[in-house]
Amino acid sequence: MLKWITGIAGAIALLAVIAGWWMFAGFSKAPKAAPGVVDIEAWRAMVRDAGGELPTGIRILEVGGDSAPMLAARAGAFGGEWLTSYNSVQLVFPEDTIVIGGALDRVTSEGMVQSKEAWSFDDQAYGQLTAAMLKASQVLITHEHLDHVMAVARHPDPPALAPRLSLNAPQIAALPKFALGGLDPALAGLAPRLDGSVQLVAPGVVVVPMAGHTPGSQLIFITLENGQEYLMIGDTVWSMTSIEELTMRPVFTQFIVFDPNEDREAIRTQIRALYDLMQAEPGLHVFPSHDRVRLDELAGEGLITWGFAD
Ligand SMILES: [Zn+2]
Ligand SMILES: [Zn+2]
Repeated sequence: MLKWITGIAGAIALLAVIAGWWMFAGFSKAPKAAPGVVDIEAWRAMVRDAGGELPTGIRILEVGGDSAPMLAARAGAFGGEWLTSYNSVQLVFPEDTIVIGGALDRVTSEGMVQSKEAWSFDDQAYGQLTAAMLKASQVLITHEHLDHVMAVARHPDPPALAPRLSLNAPQIAALPKFALGGLDPALAGLAPRLDGSVQLVAPGVVVVPMAGHTPGSQLIFITLENGQEYLMIGDTVWSMTSIEELTMRPVFTQFIVFDPNEDREAIRTQIRALYDLMQAEPGLHVFPSHDRVRLDELAGEGLITWGFAD
């Protein structure tokens, strides 16, 4: 009898270990190769061929911050901390600006608190973001998730914002679920300006569709007038350590964060492609949306500037 009980207990313990491994560590590694996922030479050629006045700077406006266990961002990362930034990006041109990212509003932010001590939300910055959108020649988002669309879906002046929006079809299709009390008619009738191909949207700015995290996810390749090159990778990863360690978010984030699920196979492949790209192009400044440590590093090197220009 005792032998049976020990056997059953052992089997349950083994199953728990396997389930834990699957939820928090397994099936998250990038493959050995990812040919053809990114083609920086093609993006560079588009920038070169189009010419024009390139942007002079990249500015980042943080509307909120938080902290979570690194395990949420990278499978198997037991013990570390992920400093989370919620922000929007402004490309500054000699004559105008482009805003990328709708960040989140206070009510959304309050619904996503991870750490009571680290959490913050800056109402003044959010107001600055919605105002900056109306001065921008274009407004884009990296992808259609609640922490990247709110200043678009819940903008106080949709008719003024609508003509500036350069979105793709999946991004537009997702807007109604983020609007409060129904999507404003000015945003409901939006036509996609991005057609799902690699597109130059302004001098020095190339949009690269990269479905995986969401169907409408895209990378944004930016070349400044001073020759510096940047790659915004949105939420392909939440922490640069995911690229360095070739390891994506764990399976359990699917259950607690995403609906619908992300395409994990696609993201693992994209992580390999980005890793290889960074090896080949050490001068390229890659940054995800939410990695506060990485953004601080870029700011420290004078490669980005905190806060929007007026
Ligand atoms: Zn996000
Ligand atoms: Zn996301």
